[in-house]
Amino acid sequence: MAASSHTSVKPRDGVSDLVGRWPLLGQRQALVVYLCGIVTLDLVAIVAFVAQTEFLLPQLLTFAALMGCGAVCIEATRRLGMPAGVSRDLLSAWWLPVALLLPPVYALFAPILLQILLQWRVRATVLYRRVFSSAAIGLAGCTASVVFHSLVPDVSVLWLGLGGPILLAVGCAALFAVLNTALIAVAAHTADPDTRWRDVLWDRESLLLDVVELCLGVIVAIACGINLALLLLTLPPVVLLQRSLLHAQLQAAARTDAKTGLLNAAAWQREADTEIVRARRTGETLALLIIDIDHFKRVNDTYGHLVGDQVLAGVAATLRTQLRDYDVVGRFGGEEFVVLLPRADVAEARRVAERLRSRVGRMAIAADDALITVTISAGVAVMSLHGDDLIELLAAADLALYRAKELGRDRICLPAPVQRPPRPEPTPEPQP
Ligand code: GH3
Ligand code: MG
Ligand code: MG
Repeated sequence: MAASSHTSVKPRDGVSDLVGRWPLLGQRQALVVYLCGIVTLDLVAIVAFVAQTEFLLPQLLTFAALMGCGAVCIEATRRLGMPAGVSRDLLSAWWLPVALLLPPVYALFAPILLQILLQWRVRATVLYRRVFSSAAIGLAGCTASVVFHSLVPDVSVLWLGLGGPILLAVGCAALFAVLNTALIAVAAHTADPDTRWRDVLWDRESLLLDVVELCLGVIVAIACGINLALLLLTLPPVVLLQRSLLHAQLQAAARTDAKTGLLNAAAWQREADTEIVRARRTGETLALLIIDIDHFKRVNDTYGHLVGDQVLAGVAATLRTQLRDYDVVGRFGGEEFVVLLPRADVAEARRVAERLRSRVGRMAIAADDALITVTISAGVAVMSLHGDDLIELLAAADLALYRAKELGRDRICLPAPVQRPPRPEPTPEPQP
């Protein structure tokens, strides 16, 4: 399941102490209202469902066994660590069966217990995020549970192997995933309205994970219904899947610059090298931009480093939204960014760089009572014209950036043209 992680917004003057102790107060008002609304709804649901539920020993045993499996899963993967930002786990494998097999109130309690364990044993993150995650998962699970129990009043038909109830279980598991993703996506988008819905909803990877969770959840529910002891057979594969999932996320985190979400310098360089080798092989053009925020030190000096970081993240988000999926964009260091534009010639590279310059210039970041705007300068270098490998292209773009700064900033420059010997024709691919 996805755990929420929202961009932090700077503390307002005079409330810094309070915000230090209650980070929620430093968030956008709309986000605070939304988070409080969801948590209140969760509390209301807990009170309402507790009042109408008769707690029976077999159900309590099933709940304890599923929570035990969730706890083992958390303990077994805890030493791997957890990547920062939105992270995924396979804990739905345990709370989906809770929603399908037990009365809805259990689905409200399950995420609370496991989130407490995550907070205590894995990573102590900002408390309001944990509380919100519990409420979002709880409400999604409770809704799926209510729908499933109204369609299948006797859940024991689930483990008779009949197609109908299993299909309904799959449908309710999908409902659970949709609701949970939507609740978290609204929070992420409210925290940072500049992010695209596409980025906070599904991508191919998270959709695949949702399908895996759905399958695991339904299979564990059927096994658990047949015999509680069968949980012992489902636990090892789920733990193994959870470990490999975390491993993949940690690998991705190692490539990412935490402040901006872009590739870090080393990862960018690796990807850029690959693109350059490909361009050389195919004879396609390629361009490289080095982008530097103008007078960024003034932003830090005037508003502080935290606001400076927000501006960095804002510029990075603007760059990303303005580029094609296959452009390679990274943070080179400090307030410098690098972009590799496969298949771009001089005219295209200029056009893209101008568009980035004008979009960043129009971007405004709210801080204190002011709206901060920044400009950027960029140096452009094009393969074959200004260099043949990454080092040469970087050197040429850096020189062009220096010119842009010299000429007054907020502009795009290309290196002065140099006379270069013609490049040899690309060698044709060997025919099979
Ligand atoms: P120029 O137009 O010539 O590029 O001026 P500038 O002020 O942008 O350049 P300078 O190199 O003088 O200052 C860069 C500043 O960027 C100084 C440094 O404190 C700041 N900086 C670098 N990395 C970070 C960061 O991660 N966060 C914040 N907030 N500031 C950073
Ligand atoms: Mg710089
Ligand atoms: Mg600068």
